[in-house]
Amino acid sequence: MFLYAANIGRMLLEMRKQNDANLGASNTALLVIDVQNDFCPGGHLAVEAGDTIIGPINQMIAGAQNVVATQDWHPQGHSSFASCHPDKAPFEAIEMHYGVQTLWPDHCIQGTKGAAFHKSLQVDAFQMIVRKGFRKAIDSYSAFFENDHKTITGLDGYLRNRQIDTLLLVGLATDYCVAFSALDAASLGYKVAVVMPACRAIDLGGSLAAQITAMGDSGIELLDYVPN
Ligand SMILES: [Zn+2]
Repeated sequence: MFLYAANIGRMLLEMRKQNDANLGASNTALLVIDVQNDFCPGGHLAVEAGDTIIGPINQMIAGAQNVVATQDWHPQGHSSFASCHPDKAPFEAIEMHYGVQTLWPDHCIQGTKGAAFHKSLQVDAFQMIVRKGFRKAIDSYSAFFENDHKTITGLDGYLRNRQIDTLLLVGLATDYCVAFSALDAASLGYKVAVVMPACRAIDLGGSLAAQITAMGDSGIELLDYVPN
């Protein structure tokens, strides 16, 4: 009886996996967030083990009908860089005109190697690349809105036009650009899942736990496996 129940449980789990994450569906897109050199080991704002997610992401790309990517893309002297604020160090926070902003090391400067996608990433599959953070006075974590939560990137219009209503998110970093994108997507009405094994976090002052709670509270599914 126990074995029977365990088998049924496993079958249900497999069904759930297939139902929840059908990357081959026309209404579903894989959203690859900021898998760029500066966020990988050796980069200017390296996320620990950031490059270890590239294999699983490529595996998902291979089975996906729709693939969209974001690219952090800052001008020199961007206002989110600590180097632009006297007496401030990276990872300190300041008050900007749109709210609290964490300051970062200079990173992902337009046209530099650090801003390029990691060389192992299957970039040829990207159907759309959303560049964000190109306005000097405002940062942009989310793929949908800049950090004032008002300025749009255009991604929502693109996805709606293509009748895509379900998103699977992967990339860097779990607790910043992935989480902000997932939360905005959920608030815009998309069905959202974050593939946790294909993300890595910065985890600054408890940011990872806070964002996991926020995403759970917003109905975002946190997958602990890599769908294909
Ligand atoms: Zn940035």
